Amino acid sequence: MSDKRDYYEVLGVQKGASEDEIKKAFKKLARKYHPDLNRDDPKTAEEKFKEVNEAYSVLSDPQKKAQYDQFGHAAFENGGGGGGAGGFGGFGGFGGFGGGGGGFDDIFDAFFGGGGSRSRRSGPERGSDLRYDLELTFEEAAFGKEAELTVPRTENCTTCHGTGAAAGTSPETCPDCHGTGQVQRRQNTPFGQILNSHPCGRCHGTGKIVKNPCSDCGGTGRKKVRKKISVKIPAGVDEGSRIRVAGGGEAGLRGGSSGDLYVYIFVKRHKLFEREGSDVLCEVPISFVQAALGDTIEAPTIDGKVEMKIPAGIQSGTMLRLKGRGIPFLRGNGRGDQLVRVKVLTPQKLSARQKELLKEFGEISGQNVNPEQESFMNTIKKMFKK
Ligand SMILES: [Zn+2]
Ligand SMILES: [Zn+2]
Repeated sequence: MSDKRDYYEVLGVQKGASEDEIKKAFKKLARKYHPDLNRDDPKTAEEKFKEVNEAYSVLSDPQKKAQYDQFGHAAFENGGGGGGAGGFGGFGGFGGFGGGGGGFDDIFDAFFGGGGSRSRRSGPERGSDLRYDLELTFEEAAFGKEAELTVPRTENCTTCHGTGAAAGTSPETCPDCHGTGQVQRRQNTPFGQILNSHPCGRCHGTGKIVKNPCSDCGGTGRKKVRKKISVKIPAGVDEGSRIRVAGGGEAGLRGGSSGDLYVYIFVKRHKLFEREGSDVLCEVPISFVQAALGDTIEAPTIDGKVEMKIPAGIQSGTMLRLKGRGIPFLRGNGRGDQLVRVKVLTPQKLSARQKELLKEFGEISGQNVNPEQESFMNTIKKMFKK
């Protein structure tokens, strides 16, 4: 059998205690055994807190509580009855206990409001992410490029390696907060005393004091630099694409990893091309003679000029497709198409001779040179017969 104390006894409550009573009892005891209030005997206080916390994590969970009520400590021992195996998973997270302050404060904060919102000043802290807006030409977005970015960011000082201390010296632990970066202040409220954490004023929450500051960074351990970062922009990106450069952001604090850099893509408008997904749209003007007789023309594409056949009798607004001349797919192989919209131009500023020829053309072909026009005329005839 286990030699553990009964959980109800640990919290000092009756077996039939309500959820609220259990919570109240835990809060009271957790405060009582906080290390800051037990400077003379922190070891015992920590032990007590562990015990209190374990009892609370079981009794505050209805399922675990039911198991405990039925089987006692055996419910959570290996191979114990009552299907309790695995029910104790939550305890794994408290593994850091033996090491001292860290895990303890985390649990304390979780119950007294500070947890999560304030950063762990004394531990490693990840650097911030940065955003960089990059404008590309239409072709650069299509084919990608190696972009050289100059990113203003904070880096760790290379002279002192981020410690802020002059060469040959190292930062000392702050005596006010004992390196935690936080000081506890007691506050009287109508609901009783509340412990509040504040960043330590002496070390500004860093937990360390630099006596001989590094001359390069003034003791901050950090420097503003304009960092050149080379970024591979993949072919096929579009307006709104976002590229993540891992570690390209601000340097972390106290050995924390760097943040990331996010490159947001903007694409300049093109004089001829428009983009629709992976297809390129483009309008090409042709003469009415080319439209009637057909022709081979040069169409602009993002690869340069390519020959394109205009079939005889094409109508204005017809879309012709140039397969595989569009934008490379961002993911996977292959490319979209180019869609060419044909715009048939009506001749203007005709010479006398040109007019003469067109009139003659009109006489020999009649009004209707196109079946669509013929059917339109027939419809009108029927409409206005009466
Ligand atoms: Zn420095
Ligand atoms: Zn301090």
